[in-house]
Amino acid sequence: MRTLGIVVPCFNEEEALPETTRRLAVVLNDLQEKGKIGPDSRVYFVDDGSRDGTWQSIRGLAETYGFVRGMKLSRNQGHQSALLAGLMHARGDCLVSIDADLQDDLTAIESMLDAHAAGADIVYGVRKNRKTDSLFKRWSAEWYYRVLALMGVEVVFNHADYRLMSRRAIDALREFGEVNLFLRGIIPKLGFNTATVYYDRAERIAGESKYPLRKMLGLALQGVTSFSVFPLRVITFLGFLISAVSFLVVCWVLWVRFVAGEAVPGWSSILLPMSLLGGIQLLSLGVIGEYLGKIYLETKRRPRYFIQEVVARDSQEPGS
Ligand code: UDP
Ligand code: MG
Repeated sequence: MRTLGIVVPCFNEEEALPETTRRLAVVLNDLQEKGKIGPDSRVYFVDDGSRDGTWQSIRGLAETYGFVRGMKLSRNQGHQSALLAGLMHARGDCLVSIDADLQDDLTAIESMLDAHAAGADIVYGVRKNRKTDSLFKRWSAEWYYRVLALMGVEVVFNHADYRLMSRRAIDALREFGEVNLFLRGIIPKLGFNTATVYYDRAERIAGESKYPLRKMLGLALQGVTSFSVFPLRVITFLGFLISAVSFLVVCWVLWVRFVAGEAVPGWSSILLPMSLLGGIQLLSLGVIGEYLGKIYLETKRRPRYFIQEVVARDSQEPGS
């Protein structure tokens, strides 16, 4: 029988965890009864350096529920790294990653398992719609996916980090040593058989979003610069175009000055291209800096997380 591991990154989620665990218990039970997963299936909570009682809560839950495992990162590393830590350490023939707030419909796990049984190594959970999102989030997400696709970054539309991965796929993921992680971009690169499961996304069950605009923008930029050199190419092209146009303008100015014999009227025609160029140069420097910074961070090969503590009910399996 397949063993299922459910990986749940948690950052300040003490309010949500008890309910999350209760609901997961129901799902695990149901799946076991249907004979779709084995009895040693587990839930792995990864405490991403929370500042509230998340870790205590996980410890308590591990006492109550035999299927709960917990691991605490030494500090807040961000959702992507916490998720990776969980995926790298969890056991199971297939692993499902899900947010602690259970916005993603748990019943989709069964469909994911069915797809896995039918031969899929990666099953993407894709949202049917974005009804529960704010207008801004909906709009920005829509454009973000479009821009990524335009730049040739392979991503699955409206798929966040709710997915199933087989053991094979997890082992393949292990080979990617990037420090700056954007799992949604890496996973389509793994190949293997993939499938898609559609689900409805609900409101958060408790607490508030741990993804403020700042973190969202960071992740968005990560997605672009980690997978595409397209922005650099655009800059080269723009630079070329603008230089060519400027050359023509210079010719025209010289012609007006010396051949036509009148001075150039006003200074706006000079100031305008100057400021335009200044702006574009700054922008270009910024983008180049972004890539340079990335190279700088990657060359350090810094570890992506440290595990400070683990909890498991039976001490025989400390790492599980
Ligand atoms: N999360 C995390 N580390 C962080 C931020 C978030 O592990 O630094 C977790 C969080 O606990 C949740 C998941 O990532 O399980 C997604 O976060 P959230 O639900 O707040 O994002 P949203 O659904 O609002 O985009
Ligand atoms: Mg959420």
